[in-house]
Amino acid sequence: MWNVIGQPKAVELLRHSLESGRLAHAYLFVGQPHVGKATLAINLAQALNCEQGIEPCGQCRSCLRIAAGKHADVQIIGRLPDTGSGEAGPKKEISIGQIRELQQAAGLRPYEGKHRVFIIDSAEHLNEESANCLLKTLEEPPPEVLIILLAANDARLLPTIVSRCQRVELLPVPANTIEQELVEHRQIEPDKAKAFSRLCRGGIGWAISASLNERLPQERSLRLNELQELVTTSLDKRFDFATKLAAQFNKNRDSVEEVLRLWLDWWRDLLLVKEGCAEFITNVDQEETLVQHSEGYNVAEIRHFIEAIRAALEQLEQNANPRLVLEVLMLSIPNREEERIKRPSA
Ligand SMILES: [Zn+2]
Repeated sequence: MWNVIGQPKAVELLRHSLESGRLAHAYLFVGQPHVGKATLAINLAQALNCEQGIEPCGQCRSCLRIAAGKHADVQIIGRLPDTGSGEAGPKKEISIGQIRELQQAAGLRPYEGKHRVFIIDSAEHLNEESANCLLKTLEEPPPEVLIILLAANDARLLPTIVSRCQRVELLPVPANTIEQELVEHRQIEPDKAKAFSRLCRGGIGWAISASLNERLPQERSLRLNELQELVTTSLDKRFDFATKLAAQFNKNRDSVEEVLRLWLDWWRDLLLVKEGCAEFITNVDQEETLVQHSEGYNVAEIRHFIEAIRAALEQLEQNANPRLVLEVLMLSIPNREEERIKRPSA
């Protein structure tokens, strides 16, 4: 059974290719963090090596060993140790040494299964040297070898790499699919399931982790509070924050983009509340605070800042100077009209 959730198109495509014996030599699974890329890659590795047929049965020795990360012919490269917070730790580049090891192993016959499968997690972290090295294997793939690259953003990969892989896009999982999964298969209370299914913004892996680990949603709230405080703090403190975030960007750009997306969601929610569409907000656990905050701005100010965050994300994507981008963003924070709200009507 394919156990990736909410990706019927991707599963159908792979299943069809397996049935017709037309699997590509290399795939690129693209989709936002926690959407199911690694689960799908493991499923495909199981399907190729399953002892029961061409579906991943999930029960045979081979499927079980692959799921447990113990199968000699299935390797995951570039995976980060789980920090337990659901957020990846500092990311490291995938070195040329790791790719050379892959090439060496790819030249050997499968050891215990039928196919050797190499999964390259966070393929954005291939540096130029290692990407060029990998190209050789992608150009002349050894028989019985499948390479699967996982990436949140394929714009960061060398175009020559992308063009040699079959691209499979994983779309955000609909909130109701996630809610149903949490309630029906993971026995999560309906209220919690509803909240997590919205908060994860289509990244079902986050919702599942959050339902197992209370710290995740708590950390998220803390980070949101920190962002909200920026709104009322002095410009100096905002610049300090920008400096801190820019330093973090150099070590782990994904985590900085994640902060900005969190902020973007918050401001989008403010707009929804302001326009009387609170039922569509992402931060369902913060509705009261959102209502309070929404009083401090007009629609144009909220829209303007949403655009500013979007622009910052785009500029970071295009490798603009992170400190400059973040400082400009700090300058764009609209002033809350707190005085006006608090002042008793005279
Ligand atoms: Zn099996």
